[in-house]
Amino acid sequence: MTDAAAALAALRDRIDTAGSLSIADYMAFCLSDPVHGYYRVQDPLGRSGDFTTAPEISQIFGEMAGLALVQAWRDQGAPGEVVLVELGPGRGRLMADALRAARAAPAFLEAARLWLVETSAPLRAAQARNLAASGVSPRWVDRFEQTPEGPLFLIANEFFDALPIRQHRRASDGWRERRVALVDGALAYVDGAAAAAAPAPEAADAPIGAWIEICAQGRDIAAAVGARLAAHGGAAVIVDYGYDASLRSQAGWKETFQAVRAHAYADPLAAPGAADLTAHVDFSALAAAAQAAGAAAAGPLPQGKWLRRLGAETRAAALARARPDQAEAIAAGIGRLTDPREMGVVFKALALTPLNAPAAAGFEGAEGTAR
Ligand code: SAH
Repeated sequence: MTDAAAALAALRDRIDTAGSLSIADYMAFCLSDPVHGYYRVQDPLGRSGDFTTAPEISQIFGEMAGLALVQAWRDQGAPGEVVLVELGPGRGRLMADALRAARAAPAFLEAARLWLVETSAPLRAAQARNLAASGVSPRWVDRFEQTPEGPLFLIANEFFDALPIRQHRRASDGWRERRVALVDGALAYVDGAAAAAAPAPEAADAPIGAWIEICAQGRDIAAAVGARLAAHGGAAVIVDYGYDASLRSQAGWKETFQAVRAHAYADPLAAPGAADLTAHVDFSALAAAAQAAGAAAAGPLPQGKWLRRLGAETRAAALARARPDQAEAIAAGIGRLTDPREMGVVFKALALTPLNAPAAAGFEGAEGTAR
């Protein structure tokens, strides 16, 4: 049996015994099942993989993120021992670039204990390889909550979009959850029973036909990060594609569950375990969870604006001067990350800090914008 056939067979068994699955349970199976999960068995990144991320496109992304964390560390009195965390580090390029840029602040590197939150064995191995030259030895955990207490400096890029969401649609007779079932032997979406109450308070006024997506795991992690920042200080920067809930109504209350395979969009039900499944990140929900835990939230800012404010274009010009043979590639890379027609606007950055701390670098004037 091929891997894809084995994954489908396991899923059928599950549905046969337990009934239809929520989208969250379906996503969790497809991405994280220990035997069949997408992230457990392969390296999905890069040109030959299914998708490419900002740190794989340009070293400047990780450099800017690293310098922003160093700035926050300085702003908060340069504590002598800090917990440096990356959620979902992929191949480790972001962190390798961040640590290289942070060499300008050797005391930060001395203070930093690096923790990588990663469930994928192949990606942990890639992270170890790519961080070998950094001089900082990482430790790995499966979940953020397993990292130690202490001042927290955290970065996450394209992590929250991979966490399972539940989807609900407002039908004429109430809210119905979308589920995955077997219909004539094939995986298909079906509607759950109608519920009178909205699945989240922010959906109460949604029109008929509206979708709402709820990422409980993302909210829990944002709350845990917010609580840690409130108790011990630090800063967290979360970058991903997503939306600000205040714009959700303007955007038409769309659903954003998607599959990407070999750099193209695919049917999320077509190849369980063999395609990346994601949903756009609800930044307002993450901000609200962190705020409820006692932290401040700023943004989300469009990625292009955030990177420009951090000096990404100046850095690109300096790199191009140092490597004239690479000038075109450097300009193309930074263009992809900042251009509003590419990743500059769809991708956004959210900053979390303690209530009394200065704004994170790049977020000056954006304090308190997240609801
Ligand atoms: N940040 C990287 C990789 C993004 S891909 C980059 O920008 O290139 C998503 C990453 O999150 C992968 O490393 C994946 O293995 C990890 N991941 C996905 N779901 C996870 C979970 N529930 N817990 C921990 N890591 C997870």
